[in-house]
Amino acid sequence: MDIRHTLWVFDAVAGLKDFRNKSLPDVMDKLNREYLANCVGAVPRAGSTDKIISADAKQVTGQTVPAGPFDAVVFLVKDDSQSFGPKIGGAFTSSPDVLGRTFLGTRGGGLSEVYWNKCYSSKELAASIFHEAAHLKSGLDNSMHHARVGAPHGGPGLKVLSANGSSFFSPSLDDFDFYSIAIPRHIIVRTRVP
Ligand SMILES: [Zn+2]
Repeated sequence: MDIRHTLWVFDAVAGLKDFRNKSLPDVMDKLNREYLANCVGAVPRAGSTDKIISADAKQVTGQTVPAGPFDAVVFLVKDDSQSFGPKIGGAFTSSPDVLGRTFLGTRGGGLSEVYWNKCYSSKELAASIFHEAAHLKSGLDNSMHHARVGAPHGGPGLKVLSANGSSFFSPSLDDFDFYSIAIPRHIIVRTRVP
């Protein structure tokens, strides 16, 4: 099956946003060039006949996400204080070094969010958005961080999708394989702010 994937980034920051070292156009550019462009092609899972024919990051321009069946949405909020978790029944514990969170199995489906002011750079934002989208699409919580992807690339293991993903300078082939395999999975795609 031919599959198109869009990773929608919904800028839901309310109030003042810190712009040091980062800009949303830069973040979108990095997501497209350094991440999603590498997730196109045959799905690298044994026995799969699926093919990712396009994978793009796009910023949501209105109040509603025009999402397709294999898409994902990541919300940008300012910091923990603006988390959507409590609104949808998500378990939430504040932690200073957490750059984003994904709430799975919550009302209205899973929700991914990234904290704009807690990320230092466009690079860190792009990595965090990709990381949370991978939790959302795979349906895996912390167990994702230890996933083994295997053939055909098979190494050197997850980097950006590991527990301290933002500490890596660049993603790995396994990060891309993991994400490509997760794209065909059906999830409830949120089309608006909860
Ligand atoms: Zn994680």
